[in-house]
Amino acid sequence: MIETDIFIVGTGCSGLYCALNLPRDKQILMITKSDVRSSDSYLAQGGICVLKDESDYDSYFEDTLKAGHYENNKESVDIMIRTSQEVISDLIGYGVDFEHTIDGELAYTREGGHSDKRILFHEDETGEEITHNLLNQVLELPNVTILERTALIDIIEENNTCYGGVIKREDGTIDTVAFRDDMVLACGGIGGLYKHSTNFRHLTGDGIAIAVKHGIERQDIDYIQIHPTTLYSDKPQDRSFLISESVRGEGAVLLDKNMERFTDELQPRDVVTAAIRKQMKADGTEFVWEDLRTIPKEVVESHFPNIVEHCKQRGFDVFTEPIPVVPAQHYFMGGIKVDHNSATTMSNLYAVGETACNGVHGVNRLASNSLLESLVFAKRAAHKINADAVGLNAVPEPNWEERKAIVDRLYNPDDYKDLSKLENDYRQLVLDEIDKFKEERGK
Ligand SMILES: Cc1cc2nc3c(=O)[nH]c(=O)nc-3n(C[C@H](O)[C@H](O)[C@H](O)COP(=O)(O)OP(=O)(O)OC[C@H]3O[C@@H](n4cnc5c(N)ncnc54)[C@H](O)[C@@H]3O)c2cc1C
Repeated sequence: MIETDIFIVGTGCSGLYCALNLPRDKQILMITKSDVRSSDSYLAQGGICVLKDESDYDSYFEDTLKAGHYENNKESVDIMIRTSQEVISDLIGYGVDFEHTIDGELAYTREGGHSDKRILFHEDETGEEITHNLLNQVLELPNVTILERTALIDIIEENNTCYGGVIKREDGTIDTVAFRDDMVLACGGIGGLYKHSTNFRHLTGDGIAIAVKHGIERQDIDYIQIHPTTLYSDKPQDRSFLISESVRGEGAVLLDKNMERFTDELQPRDVVTAAIRKQMKADGTEFVWEDLRTIPKEVVESHFPNIVEHCKQRGFDVFTEPIPVVPAQHYFMGGIKVDHNSATTMSNLYAVGETACNGVHGVNRLASNSLLESLVFAKRAAHKINADAVGLNAVPEPNWEERKAIVDRLYNPDDYKDLSKLENDYRQLVLDEIDKFKEERGK
């Protein structure tokens, strides 16, 4: 049995930022199913939203709600927007280098659904810039241990209180983790369940499956975002390559088979996706075209070098020809239901980032709100965990020895003998749950 104070599952931006905001005198164990750099946080291209100044509050709030079809939790949206400047200033303090104008001011870009430029970016690799700086900070912390290629395969709970986790280590052995304070699920989205997705394949909604299995409440599980523009390929591929929405924000246009525009490219993602699908059906094609030649060449070169290079490797020169694009699964708005401090409905268990649902996004996420939402609510989880540790509940009941005994008593190695069956069962649990939510909503 591994013993720790706080157990964080996932080393994407939400897990890392949570760890950075926890007290230094707490032992923190972090695990990641793959290596530390294989998280969707590294893939984010477009950027991260921020409240530029007070005059943009109403417009930013309205854009978020409009994209979410007004099903958003308004208090969550308010918290996210109000905390955005604090989070950005933390990131800059950690060394994150956002793009600046020639006057040295922060530069802003725009994406679909935004009525103004309010997105900070670092070329087209904002996620990598943010996450590698967060990781570097965490690697400096002596109180944090990270185990790579180590997967959470279950939690250990009794009477709706979480006491530990069951993990599969890199060498295939199974172990348990007992924690003194709390556990945080920061295990990302569900793209690995889909044939075409922009997500890493190993992100298969394990946290959601575990929540279903143990009766932890879920929310909006059927709200799944399809990104309108990923580079089309007729060959099977590991992960669909995203053509960031800020490419359209900077002026790229979508064209049908006759090279004619067919929609307003700056509408929210679900609307553009629907327009592309309709056009593909009408044209009898497997993709539409995206033309970047409408953007000044120097902007494409400076803002989207990664996209230019990737397209080149796939045989497309964005400066001389349009590229074929097709919608693919991209983001998960639903998740484990959490309150405004990211607490789940099970004691001692928190969920942050894409695995969690605090209702910020409603039916559909506004572009570049997810890195921000992940960070804002990961910090709140850390503060709540800390407040509980020094507050009235500082000495948790039952005591530490009894808690470890509970983990020992509830852990049954026979339950984890056939791991490929368990993996398949988990996948099916999540897919069934999506169908169940759809059915209940009458879709
Ligand atoms: C291509 C792409 C582009 C994007 N662009 C943007 C953008 O421009 N702006 C924006 O705001 N958002 C963007 N997003 C969304 C954003 O990147 C994610 O929503 C966000 O990074 C999620 O962070 P996270 O910490 O919740 O999860 P992730 O960063 O995905 O991390 C999940 C972690 O959990 C681990 N894990 C999963 N299951 C287990 C398990 N069973 N056991 C142990 N570890 C596990 C993984 O290994 C990983 O470390 C983009 C996403 C993609 C895919």
